Amino acid sequence: MAHAMRNYMEDVVEHTLKLILPDLDVCKCEICQMDMMAYALNHLPPKYVVTPEGELYSKLAELVQQSEVDAEVALIEAAKVVSKNPRHNRKKG
Ligand SMILES: [Zn+2]
Repeated sequence: MAHAMRNYMEDVVEHTLKLILPDLDVCKCEICQMDMMAYALNHLPPKYVVTPEGELYSKLAELVQQSEVDAEVALIEAAKVVSKNPRHNRKKG
């Protein structure tokens, strides 16, 4: 069976962003969400796991829980940075 290597912090950050986004005072467009995820991932240590292709690593849920706090801290910092320097023009009106 083919296996794939992936950085599960990507899943953690994406999952955590969805949870806390309603509470963040930041533009919630796709560009800013991706910028926040990129910023957070650049400030978090990558956590690579090898999974059978197409399957979720069985320990992933457990690992995600353990890393959610770290991801939340990084995303709150990311929201501050992105809201100060949005990649696009501020909304008109
Ligand atoms: Zn935006």
